[in-house]
Amino acid sequence: MSFDLVIFGGTGDLAWRKLMPALFQAWRHGKLPAGGRILAVAREALDDDGYRQWLQQRFQDLAGPTRPGAADFKRFAALLHYLQVDLSLRAHYARLRRWLKAPQPGEGRNSAADSAVLYLATSPHLFPEICRQLGAVGLNGPEVRVVLEKPLGHDLQSARAINQAVGATFSEAQALRIDHYLGKSAVQNLTALRFGNALFEPLWRRESVASMEITLAESLGVGTRGDFYDRTGALRDMVQNHALQLLTMLAMEPPARHDANALRDEKLKVLQALKPFDAVSARRDVVRGQYRAGVCEGRAVPGYLDERNVPAGSRCETFVALRTEVRNWRWAGVPFYLRTGKRLAAGAACIVVNFRAVPHPIFPGPHRANRLLIKLQPEDGLELQLLAAKGSSGSEALAPVSLDLDFDKAFFEDRVGAYERLLLEALHGRLNLFVRSDEQEEAWRWVEPVLQAWREDDAAGLGPRPYAAGSWGPAAASALVARDGFHWSEEH
Ligand code: NAP
Repeated sequence: MSFDLVIFGGTGDLAWRKLMPALFQAWRHGKLPAGGRILAVAREALDDDGYRQWLQQRFQDLAGPTRPGAADFKRFAALLHYLQVDLSLRAHYARLRRWLKAPQPGEGRNSAADSAVLYLATSPHLFPEICRQLGAVGLNGPEVRVVLEKPLGHDLQSARAINQAVGATFSEAQALRIDHYLGKSAVQNLTALRFGNALFEPLWRRESVASMEITLAESLGVGTRGDFYDRTGALRDMVQNHALQLLTMLAMEPPARHDANALRDEKLKVLQALKPFDAVSARRDVVRGQYRAGVCEGRAVPGYLDERNVPAGSRCETFVALRTEVRNWRWAGVPFYLRTGKRLAAGAACIVVNFRAVPHPIFPGPHRANRLLIKLQPEDGLELQLLAAKGSSGSEALAPVSLDLDFDKAFFEDRVGAYERLLLEALHGRLNLFVRSDEQEEAWRWVEPVLQAWREDDAAGLGPRPYAAGSWGPAAASALVARDGFHWSEEH
């Protein structure tokens, strides 16, 4: 299978930091279909060689193990091409079509544009015009797929507008919405754990599970991206997409088939079953925070308001913790806690399934329960916490011990990064790991009352709660779970 992959925004940060390194890894692992072409497009005046040199220089900034050696880069670079295109100019799309249709020297083929993956890695405000113009020049045949990077909108209305504009040119099956969490191995393994193993399914319900916890924590601050972040905030940047996608995969019913629509139908049902927020619960069940100066990983760091490019007096949230429920027979009454933030005590992404304790404890000591930790970052693995008799006396308290599985060690040879996996899935036309428009809009619908409550609070002079950089967020986040008798995982 040959392929044409076009990266719109080929000179952007996303392209050189994430997409091109992922394509290089896919090439190095022998996973890129043979005979392909990767075309970067942007406005900068470059030719193929100029782009290859530019990218090679950028690659010098990559971390050691992912940085290609010169010989490897040269062979990979033979796949790379560049076309100067201004995506706001209609005439330039004809140039793109000509390029895709023309046989490349020595390739002896044409009409490649009938089958292409078009990756929109530009600002999303360009997406409607790009799709319109692609349709106008006929680059939307049934074998063309368009990949849409996040953020897709900043609220329900803007997300719908983008989806409608994309939908006017491409069918739903052609539009691949990225949520890079879905490309992570650990997330693949969550599906495998639930639907490839019979062991947990009888326990995966309200009768055995006391609560679910999803933490997506970063120790980093906003760096130099303060202006971008300030327009986005943690709810839009992490909760509406990544955290909710993880929640749907935790809570969904087993799909009848391992195919994209069967999976996405079940995920959509979870989103539709989420307890909706209103003006009261948006304040009672959601904690909004913003970091102040503190010590993070042993280093003194400034507060959010002192970061570069952050507007004075900003009320943007850098932390969100919330409590919700999935209102169906499987999960009625089980709290799902989501938490995400910047400048937290550790950079860690983890799902914790807190099982119920035995109904009648016969051992002395604390009445502990089993926990399953699904680790997404920095390790990628599963840890099942059991309670065991440690000492020689039969009347001692039980101690927690762990069955620990590290996927990086277990599958060392086959490790694939999130963007590498997503790009390969897109090239093969498999949609399982991409978000459907109805899922995405349902997620926006669910967060809207929270955004509305915060707008009102801002107008009333009520901003986010402060927390010290290097902590686990505002005290109110601990109180949120303590109200139900729980603790966050690091408080155990
Ligand atoms: P960026 O560094 O500003 O890059 C934007 C790219 O789009 C550049 O290649 C730019 O090249 C090109 N471009 C802009 N206007 C154009 C036009 N009219 N015609 C042709 N090309 C045009 O932005 P980025 O960080 O790569 O982010 C791109 C999108 O991905 C954003 O929506 C961002 O939120 C999202 N995203 C980024 C990351 C990340 O790690 N950076 C992660 C997830 C999502 P020229 O200026 O030369 O035209």
